[in-house]
Amino acid sequence: MLQILNLSKSYRKTLAVDDVSFTVPDGQVGILMGPNGAGKSTIIKSIAGLLRYDGAISIQGIPSRELAAKRVFGYVPEIPALFDALTVREHIEYIRRAYQSDVTEEEVEAILRRFELYDKQDKLGNELSKGMMQKVSICCALAVKPRVILLDEPMVGLDPQAIKELKEVVLELRDQGVTVLLSTHMLEMVNELWDVVFIMDQGHILATYTRQEAGDQDLDAIFFGTTDRERAVGTEASKHGETLETTEGGREE
Ligand code: ADP
Repeated sequence: MLQILNLSKSYRKTLAVDDVSFTVPDGQVGILMGPNGAGKSTIIKSIAGLLRYDGAISIQGIPSRELAAKRVFGYVPEIPALFDALTVREHIEYIRRAYQSDVTEEEVEAILRRFELYDKQDKLGNELSKGMMQKVSICCALAVKPRVILLDEPMVGLDPQAIKELKEVVLELRDQGVTVLLSTHMLEMVNELWDVVFIMDQGHILATYTRQEAGDQDLDAIFFGTTDRERAVGTEASKHGETLETTEGGREE
């Protein structure tokens, strides 16, 4: 389970995330959506421990900054960051030791084969294409054998075969009870994956839908339905000489 409680983050004068709370239960896939600047990356970097923030984040009920939480947490950043001088295989080995993961040799081989990296395992980080780096990054996160996994725009730069594998992996993780949080703007890619969706704008979650609540609407319809409604409310408020910010309590921008 991933739990975010009253998360706020400012960059100097910009309030990027304003008192956001949400939970993704065990065995569910949460999708974080929103236009550019909504605050998605700030939330993701906060969960991954890359930013200072106000509020509380817990992974499997453990504060995210504790080692026990980090041990069960996998993270695929939007931009893969590999070591130039380590091979593909050494990246996996590094993660296996750092996380004291009990991933077996057979499991590592299966992960690498799945993402068509088995025959490239001796290539160095700086010899890989952007797409291959992304796949190594996914393999590293899987080698942790995480209970919670965070994927930031994971489909960008992947070839169709890798996208297909990644979708299958997400469904398998879900079936194993793993919590998945995925940030993406490629809504059509995740239509068959999600259990709960959080629609963000301007540092707030505008709406949360479970798949049951969404009925037969796809993510496109949910997203545009929510953002169009919000725009209409904003227009109506400004006609009355107000701004959404002041109605919400003087949020700073
Ligand atoms: P998203 O990922 O949804 O596009 P971000 O979390 O990147 O949104 O950005 C949220 C807000 O915070 C935006 O207004 C953005 O300009 C601002 N912001 C993000 N990173 C920084 C930073 N390092 N310094 C200053 N402002 C930032």
